[in-house]
Parts: sequence; C-alpha cells; structure tokens
Amino acid sequence: MNIIKKVLWQNTIRNLLRRGHIVIIFIISLCIFIPTIFIEYQQTINHQKEEMTNYLDAQTYFFESWLMERSEDIHTITNLAFVKGYQYEQTQAFFQEYKKQTVFTDLVFVNKEGIVQFDTVTEYQHNGIGIDVKNREYFQVAKKTKQQYITDVLISKVTKEPIIAFASPILDEQQQFNGVVFGTVNFSTVDLLLNESRVGFQGHAYIVNQDGTLLTELVSNKKDVNSANQNIFSQNYNIDEQILTIAQSHQTQSPINSYKDANGEWVLAESKPINQGKWYFISEVNLLEAYTPLIKRFGLLAICILVGTFLTIKVMLMITKKIEEPIQQLLKGVGKVEQGHYDYKINEKQLAPYAKEFQELCSSFNEMSAKVKEDTILLKELSVTCQLTKLYNRRYLNEQGEHVFQDCKNNEHHCSCIAIDIDFFKKVNDTYGHLTGDEVLKHVAKIIKESVRRKDITTRYGGEEFVILSPATTLESAVKIAERIRKNVEEYPFTIGEQYIPMTVSIGIAEFANDKDISTFYDLIDKADQALYVAKESGRNMLRVSDGANNFVMR
Ligand code: GH3
Ligand code: MG
Ligand code: MG
Repeated sequence: MNIIKKVLWQNTIRNLLRRGHIVIIFIISLCIFIPTIFIEYQQTINHQKEEMTNYLDAQTYFFESWLMERSEDIHTITNLAFVKGYQYEQTQAFFQEYKKQTVFTDLVFVNKEGIVQFDTVTEYQHNGIGIDVKNREYFQVAKKTKQQYITDVLISKVTKEPIIAFASPILDEQQQFNGVVFGTVNFSTVDLLLNESRVGFQGHAYIVNQDGTLLTELVSNKKDVNSANQNIFSQNYNIDEQILTIAQSHQTQSPINSYKDANGEWVLAESKPINQGKWYFISEVNLLEAYTPLIKRFGLLAICILVGTFLTIKVMLMITKKIEEPIQQLLKGVGKVEQGHYDYKINEKQLAPYAKEFQELCSSFNEMSAKVKEDTILLKELSVTCQLTKLYNRRYLNEQGEHVFQDCKNNEHHCSCIAIDIDFFKKVNDTYGHLTGDEVLKHVAKIIKESVRRKDITTRYGGEEFVILSPATTLESAVKIAERIRKNVEEYPFTIGEQYIPMTVSIGIAEFANDKDISTFYDLIDKADQALYVAKESGRNMLRVSDGANNFVMR
C-alpha cells in the first residue's frame, strides 16, 4: 500500500500528468454531470407532474360531470308533475322503469317529515318503506337549502352496501319543501365507471373521503377491480394520515409530493378535491418508474463519461510518453556527464518524433557537453602543467608517480628517479634579473625535455629543480640520461644577444629494484634528492647515485 502510495505520489512528470488528468476529468465530469442531471431531473418531474395533473383533470372532470348528470336526473324526476303531486302509484311505476334503464340501484320517495314512502327495492324481504331518514344529512341539506345534494359514501339502511345518494327536494307550488327524492348508486358501479373511463395512465389512483377512508381504487388490471373494492370495504381501509394531510392541503401550484404508499413503496402523488370537496382524487406513480427515464439517461451519460475518460486516458498516456521519454534521455545524458563521461552524446535522431523543443534542448545539451569536455581537458592540462616551462608540475608527479611506481613494483620492473637542480641560479637572477632567470629556466627545461625519452615523466618539481621519473629503467640507463642532460646544459649555455650565460646542473639519481630501503615512490624521490644534495656538496655540475642505502657514489 505504502509502495503504491509512494509511486503514485512521487512528483514525477508522469504522476503530475496523471494527477492533473484525473482532476481535469473529475471537474469536466462534474460540470457536465451536475447541470445535466439537474435539468433532466427537473424535466422528468415536470413531465410527470404534467401527466398526473392532466390525468387528474380528465378523470375528475369526467367523474364530476357524471355526478352532476346523475344529480340532474333526480332533479328532473322531482319536477315531474305526478311526483310533485304525490301520485304514488304512477311515481312508483315510473321509478321502477327508470331504475331499469339507469345506474341507480334504488329510487326513494321521502315525505316532508323524512319518512320513506316507497322505494324500488324488490329483492329484499324488507324494503325501505317507513324508514325514518330525517336525520340523514341529504334530507336535512335538501330541506334547508332546497338544492340538490350528493352525499358522501353511506351504508344503505336497506341493502347494507356502500352507496352514494343523489338527493333533490320536492317543492310545492309555493316553492316550499315538500319531501325528497333520492337515488342511490352502489359504489361498485362508481368503481367500474372510473376504471372503464381511465385512459393512458399507468400509475395508481384512488378516491378517499375526508376521514381518509379509501372509497375506490383504480387498478391497472381491470380483472382486479371487484376484488380490489371488496378488500377496501371489507377492511375499512384507511390511507395514511400524512397522505391525507397532503391531499387536504392541495394547491394547484403545489410541488409534486412524494411519500411511501400503503405498500411501503416511494411514490410521486398529485391530488384534487371532488364532489364539492368531500373526497379527494389522488393519483400516484411509483417513484422508481417515474425516475426510470432519468436513470436511463443517467446511465447513458455515465457510459459516455466512462468512454470519454478511457479515451482521454489513452491520449494522456500518449502525450505523457512523448514528454517523458525525451526527458528520460536528457536525464540519462546529464547523469553520464555528472559521472565524468563528457563525450556522451544524446542521439538526436531518436528524438525526431518528439516535440521540437526537446530536439533543441538535446542539441544544446550535446553542444554543452562537448564544450564542457573541451574545457575540462584544458583545465586538467593547465592544472598539471607548469606555464613557464611547459613541463608537468609537482602535482602531476605526485598523482602519476605513485601509479607508475606501483606498476613497476607489481611487474618487478626497475624504476629510476633523476633529481636535477640548477647550480647557483640565484646568481643568475641577481645578475640578469628575474625575467632573464625565467628564460634560463625555460632553456634548461627544453634541454632536459629533449634529453629524455617519451615514457619518462619530466616535471618542474619547484623553483629551479626538476625531477624525472623513468619507469622500467635501470640505474645504468638513468645515469646515461642524467649525464646527457648534465653535458647538454653545460655545452649549450643560454644566450642573450651576444652574451652567454653558462649554466651547470647537479644531479642525484636513485633506483628502485627490490631494494629494502626504497619501498615507496616517496622513498625513491627522497633518495634521489639526497644524492642531489651530495652532488652539490661534492662541487656541483656532477652526478651522484644512491645505492639504496645511505651511500651516494659517483658514476
Ligand atoms: P645552489 O647551487 O645551491 O642550488 O644555489 P642556487 O642559487 O641555485 O640555490 P638557491 O636555493 O639559493 O636559489 C634558488 C633561486 O631560484 C632562488 C629563487 O629566487 C630562484 N627562483 C626560483 N623559482 C624561480 C622562477 O620561477 N624564476 C626565477 N627567475 N627565479 C626563480
Ligand atoms: Mg640551485
Ligand atoms: Mg634549488
């Protein structure tokens, strides 16, 4: 886990691009996703609300019309002369005939005292004759208002079934209340009517009264109509209080409501009062079904974003590669130069497929490393060379001498060292000046250089002293070289114009050859220096050779 974290959070170009890419995709997705989903959500809700409102309007319009028509039917009957005139026989016959042709299950004639005079019930042992209905609301409203009245759902005193009653007052010639005619309709008839009338709506709709009692339920499957109603009334089913409160607080511009229905499922609901506010027509649609188009669009959008993300990741990887690879090559080059491989060059041809800037960067890098190489060589040369004599300096002898000495030691070769010092040089400076002294130094250095072999390391050891390290050289050979130098310096004096400045050198020589006293490079130099000292002591312009011990002899 830590490794993954480390790898992902390391600040490499690849990770920076990856992280940047993820953030960009996330922001773009949010910018697309949130407004789209918001708009889609609003549209879906509005569409659903519109559909439900249209359905409610159509359904309530149909139902209210039907109620009004039935109410008008009864009203028309009460205006018939034989009804007004209390002509029972003719009225009764008319009621029977009328009942057969209409949806009314019973037509009842009530006198002004509220006593049923006759009705159309035949199949029951007891009809309604003599029943006192003066306490019934429809009788009282009709009497009081002299207007038609449609009741809430009642349980018939005769059939014991749920009914609604359409009551209309009988008015005498002085327009005084003189009784009531009411027609009853079984609620199952209302159910059938509503279920047959419903068109184009797949949700769930029902009618409840003010108490929250479910009066009728509209089901999608017509076969279920009867069983649905039987259940409703047999269980005296009450809808949830919350749903009733929502229905009661109905406003035309109310936002769509959502709640858990009787089956515990979330639904969207709209309601509308009917039958003069006695009932509410509620239509519900399953929330999941309502949101299905939204979910489908959401899914489609998610797929589009996923595909987009996949494609952009591919493109991003390509771009990352195009940036990362040349940088890796540059890094490799810088690493090589850092290690001292100044001749390392980045292959510019390999960078051809990458951005122009990288090619420019690489060619600049190559030029830079070439320049560094050049300058480093020059610097190195300067650091080990004496600028006056162009011979190697003491630092070079110290650096190289040890290797050369070690090589000879390992290969059991002889190794000789010749130390040279100009005699009475101070006198030259004093006599001719320092600048001439410099020229004399250059002159002697030239003679020494010309007298040695290629493999000899010739150095200006300091001041007017020179040291020659001769690898794989015996003492005899070294003596020959030294003698040649001594002789040449003596024979070729420095000249300025017509003037000669004669010079001599004293030389000390030592040899390494499995000698006990000489075991290091510094021992070797020391012995040569001691021999040089003896040469000086012995009169100058001569050679002295160390025998390895503390004896210095002439050769
Ligand atoms: P000896 O025979 O004992 O070697 O005597 P010497 O005079 O050669 O030795 P000494 O050590 O007394 O003097 C060496 C002189 O070399 C002293 C110094 O001024 C001179 N010298 C050292 N380096 C340079 C240089 O680069 N240029 C010049 N012109 N003189 C130098
Ligand atoms: Mg000297
Ligand atoms: Mg000296």
